[in-house]
Amino acid sequence: MNRRFFLDSDETFRAILECAPDAMIIADADGVMLIVNAEAERLFDYPRLDLIGQPIELLMPERFRGAHPEHRAHYTAQPHRRPMGAGLELFGRRRDGSEIPVEISLAPLPIEGTGLTCCTIRDVSARRSAEEAHRRTMEAYRMAVEVAEIGTWFWDVVKDQITWSGQFRKLFGLQSDATLNYDEITRLIHPEDKPRIDAAIEAALRRDVPYDIEYRIVWPDGSVRWLIAKGRVRRNAEGTPLDMQGTITDVTERKRAQEVLRQREAQARRTAELMRSNHDLEQFAYVAAHDLQEPLRMVASFTQLLGQRYKGRLDADADEFIDFAVDGAQRMQQLIKDLLAYCRLGTGGQAPRRTSCLDALDEALRNLQVAISESGATITNDALPEVLADRAQLAQLFQNLIGNAIKYRSEQPPRIHVGVRASESEEWIFSVRDNGIGIDAKYHDRIFAMFQRLHGRTRYPGTGIGLTLCRKIVERHGGRIWVAPGSGTGTTFMFSLPSGGMD
Ligand code: ADP
Repeated sequence: MNRRFFLDSDETFRAILECAPDAMIIADADGVMLIVNAEAERLFDYPRLDLIGQPIELLMPERFRGAHPEHRAHYTAQPHRRPMGAGLELFGRRRDGSEIPVEISLAPLPIEGTGLTCCTIRDVSARRSAEEAHRRTMEAYRMAVEVAEIGTWFWDVVKDQITWSGQFRKLFGLQSDATLNYDEITRLIHPEDKPRIDAAIEAALRRDVPYDIEYRIVWPDGSVRWLIAKGRVRRNAEGTPLDMQGTITDVTERKRAQEVLRQREAQARRTAELMRSNHDLEQFAYVAAHDLQEPLRMVASFTQLLGQRYKGRLDADADEFIDFAVDGAQRMQQLIKDLLAYCRLGTGGQAPRRTSCLDALDEALRNLQVAISESGATITNDALPEVLADRAQLAQLFQNLIGNAIKYRSEQPPRIHVGVRASESEEWIFSVRDNGIGIDAKYHDRIFAMFQRLHGRTRYPGTGIGLTLCRKIVERHGGRIWVAPGSGTGTTFMFSLPSGGMD
């Protein structure tokens, strides 16, 4: 075969055209298709004869057809090579009207004076759907990362450059997106945590130990956040680290919640311990007070006997000593009586039941009859409600408060008023107001503590247990007790009791 003839022949030209993997169409200056190859037939699904002689616009979606002759005229005036993938979103139209995404390259045929153009059309639908699938995957990934508020980072180990996502920037409190290196970025880490980070990164790079670490970051405004960082190293075939990439998550809130929980648990443990030791102490005080009663009764009665029998028969000093001993023994008996009453509150007592405060007040006043008539006290009261309470304890509460109001009276005869009002939080607020000597505001809290007294024994006898007892009674009933501030002359004690829906 004549090789030269073979290469030059028309037949060779056509054979090349037929083998081309892309659709090829030769069109004249008016856009009429003159030659089409097999791939063009397949792509557009037209028999060759239906294409030849037809305008090239036949192969375009209708919406582009109108404007195309102008583009074509423009091209014919200045024909030039236009490569594929020139960034245009182009579509072809098949015989059934369906569209196919395509890339088109145009080249003027280098045959002088013909005005012929060779269009090469490539079907890019597979690539476009792959791109679309990729885009969707990336979108879903971005969305997931965004919703989970996960920051991502990438460290080019070779160039020592770190890049990051928007969320990372936010979590690290970074002001700009300028790339930073390892030292620059780890400078933002809390100084106490930095050595741990260095060691963990070192282990990940050297020995492929998983990078998974919790640390604190210090924001430019000085606030501290807790982060969890995870990462993975990528290596080349020789095992040299290329880069490291990973995530960070903000766990500050979780950390704070854990801390609050830890503190609450510690508090609950302390409270339980306190309750136990309180209970032990009360037990101890009760047993001691109880067992002291008997020997004390002996001491008291024999010293009294001593006083009765030998008063005036010994010398004056002896008489005085006996008086001291009698007085001491009596005070001790009172103290022990009060202590026992206090301890019994913890163990004894009735289950709370519907109790008339008025009845409890009457009982208290009956017990205080002597003191009331001696002092000439006047006691008035509001209409008092019914509450859920241990009646004996409620009477004791009124008795102690009114007893004190009488005991700590001024020059005036005591005027005492027991008041009550409902509060917004389902409570009754009681008040016991007197016109006595008053209490300095700085002692308002202290007086409720055991054995706390503001006055000498000689003027006002007492043990300093009365108000402690009142507080215990009120607290056992779910209320509080306090002294009303700045009430002018006299004192007003206030206490609350739950109304429990009763009125
Ligand atoms: P006491 O046995 O000393 O009366 P309390 O616990 O009942 O013990 O009272 C503690 C202290 O509070 C008293 O010593 C007294 O100084 C003061 N106090 C209590 N009630 C009144 C009151 N109504 N007016 C003035 N001071 C009072």
